[in-house]
Amino acid sequence: MTSSPSLFKLSMLLLLPACEPDGGNKLGGGGSRTVPTCDEGSATLGVAGEFAVDSFDFDMAYDPATLLISGPVFTFELPADISGVSATVDLPGKDVGFAFWGLDDAVFIDASRQDETEGAWWSAPYWHWGALGGTVTLPIDPSTMPDGGGCLFVQPSALAMNQDGKSATMHVVTQRGDVGTGVIDVNIIIVGGAALYQDELDATVARMDQVWSGGGGPSVGNVEIFEVGGSSYLYYDDSNELRATELSGGNPQAVNLFIVDDYADEPGTLGEAGGIPGPLGLQGVDGAGTIVALDGHRMRDGSLDVSTMGETMAHEIGHQVGLFHTTESDGSRTEPLDDTAACPESADRDGDWYFSAEECADHDGRNFMFWITGNFTQDEVSPQQADVLSRSVVSRRVASR
Ligand SMILES: [Zn+2]
Repeated sequence: MTSSPSLFKLSMLLLLPACEPDGGNKLGGGGSRTVPTCDEGSATLGVAGEFAVDSFDFDMAYDPATLLISGPVFTFELPADISGVSATVDLPGKDVGFAFWGLDDAVFIDASRQDETEGAWWSAPYWHWGALGGTVTLPIDPSTMPDGGGCLFVQPSALAMNQDGKSATMHVVTQRGDVGTGVIDVNIIIVGGAALYQDELDATVARMDQVWSGGGGPSVGNVEIFEVGGSSYLYYDDSNELRATELSGGNPQAVNLFIVDDYADEPGTLGEAGGIPGPLGLQGVDGAGTIVALDGHRMRDGSLDVSTMGETMAHEIGHQVGLFHTTESDGSRTEPLDDTAACPESADRDGDWYFSAEECADHDGRNFMFWITGNFTQDEVSPQQADVLSRSVVSRRVASR
């Protein structure tokens, strides 16, 4: 067992207070927008049975409907055989995202809605906000399953006024065909010669596979190893530049997982995702990868706790495909899944409003998406969490031989 102290797994939610507008309803006037419909001009997304990326260039301009700098409202025919679909705004800047996102009559995100209304920014079910490499994906829960396809509408946006007039690209990533429980390929990128040995790497990947597939989710598929230069001690402010690394010859559908020795300014950090969700099926764009640090996973004798590290890898990729923490540090919940246990207020036995894994052990403290590690393994996966992993655009059908 690990002797390392409890450490939290960074998620982008920690940045949320910094992005929140002063005094509430900065976005939108409180109305709802008319749901767009597809016509002959609406492109059909993807390729039957395959993973595909369709990219669209556009210009950003002020949009009075949302008070945001936005692109056009795109409509696409999403074919009936869709497994998963994801969209990413490729525009440098930390406040990019989506003002409008939905399928047929279902509106998942509408930035014109009043704060704390379903579908508004910073509200259920996406808790969407402007981020680096802003991304949305279907599904993130049972209500956002794209089963049967339909008319998909999507409008890229940005919070910062200095994005007015900028050129941007939207990437729409699709996986079509029935993938079953699926497999997720992973590109492992060793940064600056970080000290990860092959047998340790194999053991961490095996543990990640055990967490997902043991919980009814996908298996880990092909794992390719890459090496990039630079320092293996990463400054938190440089992590986006690392995530945006282009990999020569890398499998585009694979999730990028960068391995560093540690964070230079936040030592002991376990890992970090590129968003909830972050960019999927893309390389070389903001937010396009997860990062896991070795030193936070070392035991007192210096050896690597491969079990906990494999759980962290499963956790960070969980964020990247759209899974939230089951419970946050203060006991609040922003997760849209209804089959994961909530850690109740009564579990905070010392009353410090800090919900440890041990306090929540009989609830969700053992779930792989709990916000912090504990003195036990965290490998519980709910059926809905497994479905979100399996139906992500990065999950493909097992190749037949
Ligand atoms: Zn996390």
